[in-house]
Amino acid sequence: MTGIPENRNNHRRQRINRLKRMIVSTVLALLVIPNILCIAAFIRISGLDRQITELTARLDGIAMAVSIEAQEPENDFYADNGIIETSGEVITVVQDERLSSQQSTAGTDDYETVRRVCLTFDDGPSANTDAILDILAQYGVKATFFVNGKPGYEAQYQRIVDEGHTLAMHSYSHKYQELYSDIDAFEEDFFEIQSFLMDVTGIQCKYYRFPGGSSNTVCNVNMKDCIDFLGEQDIVYFDWNVSSGDATRNYVSTSQIVNNVMMPVENNSWNTYVVLMHDAVGKETTVEALPIIIERLQAMDNLIIVPITDSVHTVQHVLPEEENVMEE
Ligand SMILES: [Zn+2]
Repeated sequence: MTGIPENRNNHRRQRINRLKRMIVSTVLALLVIPNILCIAAFIRISGLDRQITELTARLDGIAMAVSIEAQEPENDFYADNGIIETSGEVITVVQDERLSSQQSTAGTDDYETVRRVCLTFDDGPSANTDAILDILAQYGVKATFFVNGKPGYEAQYQRIVDEGHTLAMHSYSHKYQELYSDIDAFEEDFFEIQSFLMDVTGIQCKYYRFPGGSSNTVCNVNMKDCIDFLGEQDIVYFDWNVSSGDATRNYVSTSQIVNNVMMPVENNSWNTYVVLMHDAVGKETTVEALPIIIERLQAMDNLIIVPITDSVHTVQHVLPEEENVMEE
């Protein structure tokens, strides 16, 4: 008769043991599974991290290439209207062609041994002009200011001239819609900035930079007509072959501006580097980058920083008709 209760006891013990094993294995599972999941997630995240790093590096490379080739239409459109248009890739191809055609026009003077860097500031004067002039004076460097018509900044125009920099024209209004609406409007604006600067400083300016550059894609008039008109006025226009990228968006860091300028200068043996920068409110990082850029340029061999003068080789995106013919 005692066999039956013992059997029951055995059954109970087995059930209890099974239950124990179930509880232990459940607890173990609860402890182990999250750990395994954690490790799996960690491995996956590490992989993604590496991918992100690689992609960021590639993006940085692309961004650098685009900003170096950046065209002023984007810059100015962004600065003025907060709009960016056009595709960087197309621009890159076109500018490469321009740059190579530019190189072939190198002369045989001392450009062979000494390269020129022209630091150029567009869109001024502004609240930053005095700070820029102070830095240039501190380093004994002469630059070029492509200015607009801004009554109220008479002292700054005069300072640019008095301190030996090249005062140059960048249209009176800098309003694309007005300036480029037709050739008459362009001519009218040209005479306005020329006579304004003559009145303020007594200087007859000889150099012009088209808002957006000669290769801008926003112009309603044929750029050739504008170029021909400037030629008739004995005005030489300058574009740029190095862009600081300081106007590609609202905030560009000091180090990015330094890199954008120094990379093309350090990695290409061109005879002339015309560096596009902006003298404008909101471009304080340009002012901060300037001493660093000057120090690095001054530390380079066989390279001098000069203002734009007649002895500097022109850098033009759209070459005048005659030069195009000579090229062919
Ligand atoms: Zn401009």
